[in-house]
Amino acid sequence: MRSGLVSHGLAGENGGISSFIPDVSIVVPVHDEVESLPHLLEAISAAFSDTSLSYEIICVDDGSADGSTALLKKLALTRSDLKSVILRRNYGQTAAMSAGFHYALGKIIVTMDADLQNDPADIPMLLAKLDEGYDLVSGWREKRQDAALTRLLPSKIANWLIRRITDVKIHDYGCSLKAYRAELVADMNLYGELHRFLPALAYIEGARITEMPVRHHARRFGQSKYGLARTFRVLMDLLTIAFMKKFLTRPMHVFGLLGLLSMFSGGGIGIYLTFVKLVLGENIGDRPLLILAVLLLVAGVQLFCFGLLAELLMRTYHESQGRPIYRVREIVAKEVK
Ligand code: UDP
Ligand code: MG
Repeated sequence: MRSGLVSHGLAGENGGISSFIPDVSIVVPVHDEVESLPHLLEAISAAFSDTSLSYEIICVDDGSADGSTALLKKLALTRSDLKSVILRRNYGQTAAMSAGFHYALGKIIVTMDADLQNDPADIPMLLAKLDEGYDLVSGWREKRQDAALTRLLPSKIANWLIRRITDVKIHDYGCSLKAYRAELVADMNLYGELHRFLPALAYIEGARITEMPVRHHARRFGQSKYGLARTFRVLMDLLTIAFMKKFLTRPMHVFGLLGLLSMFSGGGIGIYLTFVKLVLGENIGDRPLLILAVLLLVAGVQLFCFGLLAELLMRTYHESQGRPIYRVREIVAKEVK
C-alpha cells in the first residue's frame, strides 16, 4: 500500500511496474467503454502536448464485457503513457478508482470518466489551479448534459444535502473530473459510493479545496451505468460521512453525553415515581410515566455502552493503521536532520 509522499513511488511498492515518477497520473475507471477509449486517450495526449508536464494514464478496467479489456491490454503494450489495470470482475466505480490510486505514481492525481463526458482539455486548467496552493480542485459541471428528471434533479437535491452536511461548499460533488495532490489520496480509504465524497473526506483530512467550472458533454457512445437507484446509496454514504466527520476521534463525547442525559432523566422520573408511591401512597403501576422512565434508563445505558464500544473501535481504527488523529501539512525547521 502507498503511504504518503515520502515512500510514495519507491521501486517495488507497485508490484514491480515502472518506478518512473510522472508529474501527473490520470486515473480512469472503465466499464464497457470500448468506443470511447481511443478518443479519450488521444484527447488526453493532446491536452498534455502543450505542457511540459509528464503524465501517465491509468485505466482501470472494471469487469467490462464489451471488449474494453482486450483493447486496454493491447493499447498498454503499444503506448508508453498507458498502464492498464484489469480487475477480476465488476466492483463499481469507487473500487476501480481506488485501484487506480493504488497504482498511480504521479505527484498529482487527476480522476475522470472514460465516457468522454469530461473533457481532458480541462486538465491543464485544473492543474494550474492546484498550483495556486490547493490540495484538491473539483470540477463543476456547470452546464451538465444529462437527463433532467432522472439525473439532474436527484443530483441537485443530493448536492444540496451534501453541502449542508459536509461543510465543503462546492456545487457539484458528483463530477469525476478532479485533481488531487497524491499524498492526500494516500490518506483516504474508499468504500461504497464514497468517491463523490472525496472532497468531504479530504476536508476531514484538513485539505484546501476549491472548484472550477469544467465542460461536460452528452454521452457519445454506450450508455450510463447508473439510474435513480444510485441516489439511495449516495444518501446512505452521506450518513456515514456525517458520522465520520462528527465522531471519528471522539464518539464518547456524543454517545456518552446522550446516554448520561437519558439515564439522568429516566432516573429523575423514577425517583419522582418512588416518591409518589412511597410517600403519597398512590398506585403508579398504570402510569405511562413509568414506561418512559424505564425506556429512558435502558436507552441511556445502551447509548453509554455504545459510546464506549465506539471509542474502542475508533482506537483500533486509528492505531491498527498507524493513523494519527492529526495531519501535518509541512514541518518547518532551520536544520532538518
Ligand atoms: N464505471 C465503472 N464501473 C461501474 C460503473 C461505471 O468503472 O460499475 C465507470 C464508467 O465506465 C465511466 C464512469 O465510471 O467511466 C462513470 O460512469 P457513467 O458515465 O455510467 O456515470 P454517469 O456519468 O452517467 O454518472
Ligand atoms: Mg458518464
